[in-house]
Amino acid sequence: MFGFMIYYIYVLHETENFKSEHAKVMKMKTWDNKRYHTLNYFLRNKFGDKVFKVSLDAGFTCPNRDGSLSSGGCVFCSPRGSGDFAGTGSNLIQQFEEVKEMMSKKWKDGKYIAYFQAYTNTYAEVEILRERYYSVLNLEGVVGIAIATRPDCLSVEILDLLEEISKDKYIWVELGLQTMHQSTAEVINRGYQLDSYIKAVKDLKRRNIDVVTHVILGLPGESKEDMLKTVEFVANTGTQGIKLHLLHLVKDTKLVHIYEKGQLRIMDMEEYVELVVSCIERIPEEMVMHRITGDGPRETLIEPKWSLKKWEVINSIEHHMMDCDTWQGKEYVKKEAIVQIFDI
Ligand code: SF4
Repeated sequence: MFGFMIYYIYVLHETENFKSEHAKVMKMKTWDNKRYHTLNYFLRNKFGDKVFKVSLDAGFTCPNRDGSLSSGGCVFCSPRGSGDFAGTGSNLIQQFEEVKEMMSKKWKDGKYIAYFQAYTNTYAEVEILRERYYSVLNLEGVVGIAIATRPDCLSVEILDLLEEISKDKYIWVELGLQTMHQSTAEVINRGYQLDSYIKAVKDLKRRNIDVVTHVILGLPGESKEDMLKTVEFVANTGTQGIKLHLLHLVKDTKLVHIYEKGQLRIMDMEEYVELVVSCIERIPEEMVMHRITGDGPRETLIEPKWSLKKWEVINSIEHHMMDCDTWQGKEYVKKEAIVQIFDI
């Protein structure tokens, strides 16, 4: 009898263990019915309203293009400094108002993030930066700014300015890491080492400024494992967000030469969808997915043409997540060694 009871308790214990493990494994988090933490969800929760990003070209250049570091630029960078969808014209306020007017026809009471997108948006004297940032920050409906830049263009004075802005308005800084692998960084002529990214992330974290990291999927010579390593690295930075870009082959870029030499393989849509889902699974729940694919400019895009159907790509990613019964964070593993690198 005693033996039976012991056995019964053991079975009960194992069943409960199984149930709790099972519940842990099956616990799926969703964000407005999406299986990944969308920017739209994040901004709506933060500001209680629909928030639009308005892409701007503030007239800067880049040390990787103007000869300070190199005159070639990153091999994938378009002649518009990867700001092909940003507004044009020398007047920033006018650029902003034009986009806002279009948006407000669809969404009357929306709010706005002014997105300094084209080129390197901290590459100027601090007073010039101050004047450009504040010129749009004070416009009606603007709740914050997003600044795309390079990690090696964040001096103490500039960090001070960003911190000053953060006291009053929401701000995030986007860093173009693209890959954690130095060999690829050389192929793409990124022009800075991984240490520079680590330093910039820590400097921004110390000042409570949100960081969003750009990663490009499909860079020359990278395997799936290489790309997942980069994603796992970023996943453990303790930062706010990540942008997963599909590599676009665009006219008038150095990447075209690499492609013509047969050193660039273009992914098909199915492969990309599977890859991006593997990436999303490895990103922690709290990290915001600012992007899961990319837009190439229709007029200059050479490959992959399928990427022009952006909504089809996004829908396929979501369907694949459903088919695999997976979600953001399902395969996230905290890597203590990386966490410590970014510890402040
Ligand atoms: S850092 Fe940005 S703007 Fe500069 S060359 Fe690279 S992608 Fe283009």
